Amino acid sequence: MGRLEDKVALITGAARGIGKAHAELFAKEGARVVVTTGTSTALGEKVVEGIKAGGMEAMFIKLDVREESDWKVAIEKVMKTYGKLNILVNNAAVSVGGTVEDTALGDWNRIMDVNATGVFLGTKYAIEAMKDNGEACSIINISSMDAMIGESGVAAYSASKGAVTSLTKTSAIACAEAGYSIRINSVHPGYVNTEMQVEEARGLGITVEEYRERATRLHPIGFLGDTIDIAYLGVYLASDESRWVTGSEFVIDGGYTAK
Ligand code: NDP
Repeated sequence: MGRLEDKVALITGAARGIGKAHAELFAKEGARVVVTTGTSTALGEKVVEGIKAGGMEAMFIKLDVREESDWKVAIEKVMKTYGKLNILVNNAAVSVGGTVEDTALGDWNRIMDVNATGVFLGTKYAIEAMKDNGEACSIINISSMDAMIGESGVAAYSASKGAVTSLTKTSAIACAEAGYSIRINSVHPGYVNTEMQVEEARGLGITVEEYRERATRLHPIGFLGDTIDIAYLGVYLASDESRWVTGSEFVIDGGYTAK
């Protein structure tokens, strides 16, 4: 029996990277998985095909996390297809390099729209879908260790992840006070090898190789994270094993912030 047997999970930004790793691992653990993404439809459908080829259950929905109407349609589809939602992973995000002085207002707004507003909308509509289903539910917000430290070169991104961290706590407490069976926690990864680093390197005007070399030196454990490292934590937070855990910050960063 899988650790997520009988649960229905929606993951945003699951076409690649950390979101894809969650989708694949959650399916292996028995969840029915809703793979969503903003624009990379073909990649998202490929993730679903892969899961189904392994004999597991998944479906694809196009969902731009900034759009309230997309959230309404997606949740409605999930309810129609599976009859419930137990798990939401608010994973989708974008990044741009730049100090506060270098950051253009347009970039700031773009980052906030996806990373903070997207998580707000997801949390709001997931709570609505989850609160009366009588089962244990879990919302996992992928923040970043950048929410906890002063990393000068990613001002807008860090601020957006700070918003995710605070929203996690206020919504976790609101659900607990309302008597809903919904736990909400935030996850704070260090540097994980994904496409996001390509964007950040571009913003800093360096190559990805240079970026990864510099980043590796900052992690005492001596190597960067893989997407599966974050997904393993996701399974714990999504499962009933973490039934006493809500409003908490989970750092997973190869020792970066322990220094
Ligand atoms: P990737 O860039 O590899 O993937 C991001 C995903 O988000 C893509 O599937 C992308 O899909 C999706 N996305 C972007 N904008 C939107 C949107 N408006 N609506 C819906 N989906 C969208 O990122 P990672 O896998 O690296 O990051 C995943 C999470 O982990 C993020 O929250 C990130 O901040 C966090 N994180 C990552 C770290 C790292 O080092 N990689 C470190 C700390 C935290 P599409 O192309 O379809 O828009």
